[in-house]
Amino acid sequence: LLMAYEPAKRLAKLQVQMERAVVNARMIYEILDMQPHQREKPGATDLVVSEARIEFRGVSFAYGNNEAVLKGIDFVAEGGKTTALVGPSGAGKSTVITLIPRFYDPSAGGILIDGQNIADVTKSSLRKHIAYVSQQPYLFEGTIRDNIRYGRPEATDAEIEEAARLAYAHDFIKAQPLGYDTPVGENGVTLSGGQRQRLSIARALVRNAPILLLDEATSALDTESEAAVQKALDKAMTGRTVVVIAHRLSTIMKANKIIVMQAGTIAEEGTHDSLAQRQDGIYARLNQLQPKAAADDFI
Ligand code: ADP
Ligand code: MG
Repeated sequence: LLMAYEPAKRLAKLQVQMERAVVNARMIYEILDMQPHQREKPGATDLVVSEARIEFRGVSFAYGNNEAVLKGIDFVAEGGKTTALVGPSGAGKSTVITLIPRFYDPSAGGILIDGQNIADVTKSSLRKHIAYVSQQPYLFEGTIRDNIRYGRPEATDAEIEEAARLAYAHDFIKAQPLGYDTPVGENGVTLSGGQRQRLSIARALVRNAPILLLDEATSALDTESEAAVQKALDKAMTGRTVVVIAHRLSTIMKANKIIVMQAGTIAEEGTHDSLAQRQDGIYARLNQLQPKAAADDFI
């Protein structure tokens, strides 16, 4: 009986690990084309990206048979520009982002990239053009180098180091016991939240995709990490079409366009200045509530 217990316990632990892995698989694997055998729509052609302009046309969406969480969303994320999604928790911001790499398909309406409906193109070609930095970056079992290389498996060591430098990660990587070959993940060294985020940004940079989806972290980072993450993000955002779920006022103010979401609809849209001046505007009200000194956690 005792002998049977140990393996059972191990099995139970493995089960828990696998369940955790499934959640993370949605976050990372799908977006990094780790499913070579996924079925493509018959006749689907490859997405051709020029400006990387994203357009939502009358997009509605419900999870399963539940009530619609997006209700006729229309907006354009201009090519090479930053579009910030803001709004209360549950408004549908994350759902908007997950529709772009087709984790889910809209129940009505369509999403176009440079005029091509993403439902009509191969998923592999769609996802090749998208990088995603999640709010809580996941590190795989493996070395730091492996973790950055997930962004683009064929990347050279030189390209990995270049991405790490741009992401302000190179210095702390070099300070690890084995540098780029230091194991991370469950059995590796422990990295701080800010360091994990910078690795995730390096992973996105090495991917070199024209579209960047960003779920901005609200978690308290120490001041030094926060500044480094911000600089790394600025690098990653340059020249790309960015859709960012923004919490920090600094990110929101820099965005070319701000979309204020509320209960699955777009309540307001404009620049920081135009929205802040709007009489009785939701954004204007939130902006007034924001303590001017603290340039973070806007919403
Ligand atoms: P936000 O990012 O603005 O906080 P979300 O897009 O995460 O909003 O969620 C919008 C709504 O969809 C919420 O009511 C949320 O509970 C629901 N929702 C989110 N993910 C799922 C899911 N996987 N299954 C069912 N409902 C979900
Ligand atoms: Mg969210």
